[in-house]
Formats: sequence, structure tokens, C-alpha cells
Amino acid sequence: MADQAKAGGRAYEFVDHKFDVVVVGAGGAGLRATLGMAEQGLKTACITKVFPTRSHTVAAQGGIAASLQNMGPDHWQWHLYDTVKGSDWLGDVDAMEYLAREAPAAVYELEHYGVPFSRTEEGKIYQRPFGGHMQNFGEGPPVQRTCAAADRTGHAILHTLYGQSVRNNAQFFIEYFALDLIMDDDGTCTGVVAWNLDDGTIHRFAAKMVVLATGGYGRAYLSATSAHTCTGDGNGMIARAGLPLQDMEFVQFHPTGIYGAGCLITEGARGEGGYLVNSEGERFMERYAPSAKDLASRDVVSRCMTMEIREGRGVGKEKDHIFLHLDHLDPAVLAERLPGISESAKIFAGVDVTKEPIPVLPTVHYNMGGIPTNYWGEVLNPTKDDPDRIAPGLMAVGEAGCASVHGANRLGSNSLIDLVVFGRAAAIRAGEVIDRAAAIPAINEKSVDRIMERFDRIRHADGGTPTAQLRDKMQKAMQEDAAVFRTQESLAQGCKRISGIWGELSDLKVYDRSMIWNSDLVETLELENLMACAITTVYGAEARKESRGAHAREDFAERDDKNWRHHTLARVDDKGEVALSYRPVHTEPLLQEADGGIELKKIAPKKRVY
Ligand SMILES: Cc1cc2nc3c(=O)[nH]c(=O)nc-3n(C[C@H](O)[C@H](O)[C@H](O)COP(=O)(O)OP(=O)(O)OC[C@H]3O[C@@H](n4cnc5c(N)ncnc54)[C@H](O)[C@@H]3O)c2cc1C
Repeated sequence: MADQAKAGGRAYEFVDHKFDVVVVGAGGAGLRATLGMAEQGLKTACITKVFPTRSHTVAAQGGIAASLQNMGPDHWQWHLYDTVKGSDWLGDVDAMEYLAREAPAAVYELEHYGVPFSRTEEGKIYQRPFGGHMQNFGEGPPVQRTCAAADRTGHAILHTLYGQSVRNNAQFFIEYFALDLIMDDDGTCTGVVAWNLDDGTIHRFAAKMVVLATGGYGRAYLSATSAHTCTGDGNGMIARAGLPLQDMEFVQFHPTGIYGAGCLITEGARGEGGYLVNSEGERFMERYAPSAKDLASRDVVSRCMTMEIREGRGVGKEKDHIFLHLDHLDPAVLAERLPGISESAKIFAGVDVTKEPIPVLPTVHYNMGGIPTNYWGEVLNPTKDDPDRIAPGLMAVGEAGCASVHGANRLGSNSLIDLVVFGRAAAIRAGEVIDRAAAIPAINEKSVDRIMERFDRIRHADGGTPTAQLRDKMQKAMQEDAAVFRTQESLAQGCKRISGIWGELSDLKVYDRSMIWNSDLVETLELENLMACAITTVYGAEARKESRGAHAREDFAERDDKNWRHHTLARVDDKGEVALSYRPVHTEPLLQEADGGIELKKIAPKKRVY
């Protein structure tokens, strides 16, 4: 405690810390990274704005994908193929291969750390079918690949990883809100500034490596399955550091959010035999996806549901949603395998799943885009000549990151595995690149001054617009103009509306000026972060003149590999000007075919049908 900074004439006192590694975020990705760093004896801090086990990962229901072969034949190459196809050929093949190959080891590691998986009769980890996961390079029936702890898999993983991290002496800074990255003039990240919500102190963390694991930004939309804390804070910090975000236009709509409430009914419900029907009682997915049916991938099912509704075959008074049936399943199976969603359906839709269908609607669920990284979790700051250039001192993992293993569309149960595989990879890499003998970098005062000036400006914002009002406006614009189906008209309008809202940020009013548990200020900081996400999403989508994965344009209905098989990079400056550029997709696998790698022709682009 000593240093002071002056911002707008006001002084802030700082508490300073030194760590080898600072992880921002304590969801599945942040905790797996924290644990891996601490296990190697790196002095590790984990900063989180909510209690670790309240991170959104706790809500993950259905499970975690890995080709364990506990319930029938499977192969990591099938998992790789499904992921490539699921990504609509936008994912980076090296990263996707790393994911599929390392998945079994990462799951067994979780088992050994103590995750209470559901079990088969023989005592092995139980695995269920999930959308887009098929046997034999998509030629066979659905494969049972998704490892589950009933329908509370994220809960089980998060509690286990938190306990293990504490056991390995990682130091937690709980209910600390990370404001921004401390950047050196040469572009190296050397730490992070955080605000302790509980006592109002400002903390400066100097570190050799900062890992962003801040999760997604579902809350840029009006209806989302994500927690209210999913506000893209890490993405906002990246944008303010002048670094790009990647593939932000790809936003996943989950087919089965509860109508009205938005809460999720896991795809595991369809994995266990549930199916969708329209107002005519028809199982319409059989018509659109004859082989995978209700287990086609999420973008496909969400689009089919939207088309049924548009063509007048929606259910309910307004004909504006779809029914999900589980009432034909054995109530004992529902109680054992899907207890959580049975409860959610009761609470949020008033439905007894053993007797009635659940009203559902596609709802924003996941962000494929985020902070570009390589498959070691190192953040990229690409140039034209070096599209894989590394931004030193910085890593990103989990939903905040974009490695990119999900490309244009993520398969269900591939996020939890992404969290642990790349959380672990980041720790392995940090162990290699961090010089333990070197001094921890000094604080760049100029960078901190800028961070505190912004903080102070927002804290004392005295315009005419309440934060909640502007946030509502943003969420409505995103929901209407960057939805399941998109057109030039809707996207151009979306760009205009979101840019207009950016302009209104300067008119915000923060009513509470205090430093202790000031939720008005927290929400305003979050709104700025959400806006960085929203504006890069809608501008990226407007520019991308094709349909691929979750980005479905009615005016450009086909995928266009010749012109568009590349990643979007979007930078946004403080005036809200968006600059787009592109970087190539990695199409080369890590393992050569002769060494047991996948046959190249197996993953060559083709039409994506289920
Ligand atoms: C309802 C639901 C069900 C899902 N089910 C599945 C499933 O079955 N299988 C699957 O594979 N995927 C599933 N997903 C997706 C998956 O759960 C998420 O993508 C994943 O949990 C994200 O994990 P994360 O560690 O990246 O971030 P999160 O779990 O969202 O954690 C983010 C962390 O960052 C911290 N943080 C954020 N901003 C700040 C800040 N400014 N300062 C300090 N700390 C900050 C938060 O406190 C939190 O600890 C589901 C998602 C939802 C919403």
C-alpha cells in the first residue's frame, strides 16, 4: 500500500501485488489454468468478480465430450472430424486435433481430481449421445461421447477444480472486478488492475503472465441462457488494449431455451431420447435432417425451428414456439439422468416433464468468437506478414478465447472439454515460457494512469441516460438485427443502431459514486465491455457475405470457401470505429497421416449435411 494516482483530481490508493501468473476468471477454464500453474509451483493469483463456484460454468448441464469408448466404439479422429464439420470448416485444424486427442486424458485427469461422474453398470464414466457427435466420420449413427455427471456436469467440475486449486496454494482474490490490462509501451502485458468490490480498494497485480478466462458475452442479447455476469469483460479489456477480437459474428443460438424465461434445457434431453414437435404434432427434424434428426448440430436445429415458426407451425397461442417432448421417457430415467432440467421446467414453465411437453425457443447460448489464440492459449496480435504473431505476456482460455476449435459453430459438450484441455495447455506452456529466475515486471505507471482515468470518468459519469436503459437498447438491437437469420438490411440497421448506442455511452449517468459494492458502477463497466463485443459482432456479420455455421444470411445462403474461409479480426477504438481484417484458417493437422494422423481428404471441406 503506498502509491497514489490522480484521476480527474481525485486520488486512488493502491495495493500492489507480484505474481508469476495472474488468472482473471474462476470458471472451468480459469480454474483449470490456475490449478495447472499452481501445481508447477508458479506463484499464481486467480481474480474473480463472483465466488468461483458461481461462475457460469456451474450451470453447464449436459456434459463434456471425449472419445473414451466406454459405451461403444469411438475414436479421437471421429471426434476431430465431427468438430471440423461442426465448425463448418472455419475452425483451426491444429487446435481441433489437439482438443480431440487430449480430451480423454483431460477427462481422466478430472476423474482423478475427484469429479463425481455418473457411472455405467461396470463402474465406468457414463457417456450420452449429443448433437453432431457421430460414429465413423459422420457415416454412422450418433456416438455416446459426452461424459456426464447427471445434468449437473459443470457444477461437479467447478467444485472439484476449486478445491484442488486451493489445495495447491493458488491465491484467490474473490469479488475483485478486473478493470484493465497493464500494458508496456512495446505491447507486452505486465499485469492487471482490479477493484475490490467489498472494501473499495484498488489493486495492481504485476505478473509475468496474465491469463484471461472471463467467459462469454451472451448478455449482449436480450434473451440468453448465460448468467447475468457473462458480459465479455476480457474481450473489452483486449479491445481497449488495441488488440483484435476474432470471429465475433458467430453467436450460437441453443435450440431449447425455455420459452419466455430463456433458461436452458440441455441438449442431453434430446440425447436421452427427447424430440421436438410443431403445431401439427410433427417431428419436423426428421424432414430436415433425416439421419441425425433431433441431434443435428445446434445451428441447424435452431434454423429449422425458426422456419417452422415462420411458416405458421409454431405452438401456443401466438404460434411462436416449439414443444420438446420428454413425456414418453421412463420417469426413473428422467429422475436419474435429467433431474436438474426437470426442476427448471417445473419452475420456469410450470411443466411436469413426465406428463407434458416443454415450450422452447432458440436462445443465445455461446460465443464462438473471442480473443484469438494459438492452441497453447497464447494471445495473437496478427499482422499481415505474421498472422500468428504472439502478444507477449498474455493468454486467453475458455469461452473468452478463440483457439479456434469451434469455428463458425460449436458442438454441444465441446465447450467444457475446451475449458479443461486449453486451461491445461496454457499451464503447460506457461511452465515452458516463464523465466522463473527473472524479476516480475515493474508497474507501468502511465498505463495505470490511463486505466484509472477511465474508471474515474465512468464512476463520475453525470449524463442523462441510466445504464439499464442503454443496456436494454443494446440488447434489443442485437436480438432483432443479429439473430438466427440475418440479411444485409437487418445487419446494416444493426451497425447503425449499435454505433448510435456507442455514441450514447458518453451520456451515461452513474447514480452511485461510492467504492463499496457499487453495482451501478459494476454494471456500467460491464456495459462498456458488452458494447465492444456487440459492435464487433454486428460489423463482422455485416461484412461476411456468406452463410457459415451460426452465421446464416438469407441473402447469401451458401458457404463461400473461396472468399470467406478465413477468420475475421475486429479492432474497435475508443470512438467506436471498427477496423476489420482477416487471417487464414489453419488447415494443417499436427500429426502426419504416416504417424497416425487423420487422412487429409477426410477433413477437406464439403457440404455440411446431417
Ligand atoms: C446454461 C448453460 C449450459 C451449458 N451446458 C454446457 C454443457 O453441458 N457442455 C458444454 O460443453 N458446454 C456447456 N455450456 C457452455 C459452457 O458452460 C461455457 O462456455 C463455459 O462454462 C464457459 O466457461 P469459462 O471458464 O470460459 O467462463 P465462465 O464459467 O463464464 O467464468 C467466467 C469467470 O470470469 C470471471 N470474470 C469475468 N469478468 C471478470 C472481471 N471483470 N473481473 C474478474 N473476474 C471476471 C467470473 O467471475 C467467472 O469466474 C453451457 C452454457 C450455459 C450458459
